[in-house]
Amino acid sequence: MKVEKNASLLHHNTFGIEVVAETLIEYDSENELEQLLASDNCRSKSLLPVGAGSNLLFLSDFDGIVLHGTIRFIETVTENDDYLLLKVGAGTIWDDFVAFCVQNNYYGAENLSHIPGETGAAAVQNIGAYGAEVKDIIHEVHTIEIETGKKQTFAQEACRYAYRQSIFKRELKGQYIVVAVTFRLEKKEKYNPNYRQSETHVGQPGQPTLQAVRDAVIDIRRRKLPDPAVEKNAGSFFINPVVLKKQFDQLVQHYPDMPHYHVSDNEEKLSAAWLIDRCGWKGKQLGKVAVHNKQPLVIVNKGGASGVEIAAFAKQIQSSVEAKFGILLQPEVDYIAGESKQK
Ligand SMILES: Cc1cc2nc3c(=O)[nH]c(=O)nc-3n(C[C@H](O)[C@H](O)[C@H](O)COP(=O)(O)OP(=O)(O)OC[C@H]3O[C@@H](n4cnc5c(N)ncnc54)[C@H](O)[C@@H]3O)c2cc1C
Repeated sequence: MKVEKNASLLHHNTFGIEVVAETLIEYDSENELEQLLASDNCRSKSLLPVGAGSNLLFLSDFDGIVLHGTIRFIETVTENDDYLLLKVGAGTIWDDFVAFCVQNNYYGAENLSHIPGETGAAAVQNIGAYGAEVKDIIHEVHTIEIETGKKQTFAQEACRYAYRQSIFKRELKGQYIVVAVTFRLEKKEKYNPNYRQSETHVGQPGQPTLQAVRDAVIDIRRRKLPDPAVEKNAGSFFINPVVLKKQFDQLVQHYPDMPHYHVSDNEEKLSAAWLIDRCGWKGKQLGKVAVHNKQPLVIVNKGGASGVEIAAFAKQIQSSVEAKFGILLQPEVDYIAGESKQK
């Protein structure tokens, strides 16, 4: 276990915000985490579990304990001719797990290649890309309850997954720490039904292979998204808004080229990137913060911006989209204030 007082979080958030945590603790095992949660120190302080910090916006120093787990393993739980269940430690780098699946010809994770972050957070966030969401391969999520220190396993259905949502982000926010996730991967060829329509098929003549899909996804992502190691960002800043059919019908009369995706008889999902672009934000910089010049959904810290400056910039985007389209964009990024949400 590693304990650091007055720890800089600069390298623990991909926005590159220079904030300090009163304490940063790295635990290596479930046992260590259980001991920590039972300690007086942890019981009296605000706690914030983090992964790789690729979806966090720190608004100030964190006056509590930031917890980061390095529980990393991939083990087979059960296997037959059709599928297998793999249990994966929450601290395992998400893309290492995807690479492992592709190398071993396990189907299901390939469209989610190259998404930054760790496996525990992937299950909290319900990460998604190219027509796939991680919920589709999650079998169960293993956690420890912060209040009681007890282990609890959530079956996939109990996680209440929805678009970039889970029970861990809503009803049970701040109450559980994910320690491992069990995934179900297919052994027989089974590509995501959406991949053929997606750009992942471009440049892959003939029969695709898992590796070809992964390579194509990585290639597209490298071309379209800024690398946080070079340009500090947290990926898509806002989620795509879902609007009622009635509002959509009105909007589409004014903006017939508006991209939209059918959700249900009552709802349509709109492209937040398109809405932001239409308000003239692409490439726009105010002070130390900018909208990326290729991807309007990505906000970039051009150097030395604070979380408050980034949040104020995001607010301006929200206001202009709301004024033009009557839609209030919701952040996908998790805003972290000094006193945590966690206790
Ligand atoms: C360049 C870039 C591209 C991206 N592309 C995508 C994309 O295509 N699709 C997509 O869905 N996302 C994308 N993201 C967002 C990000 O990669 C995901 O949200 C990812 O799951 C965050 O993982 P993390 O380990 O960095 O979590 P963090 O940012 O550290 O944490 C995210 C949230 O999870 C909580 N958390 C973290 N670990 C645990 C745990 N063990 N137990 C309980 N709670 C925990 C934190 O408290 C926080 O609320 C992108 C980000 C970047 C920077």
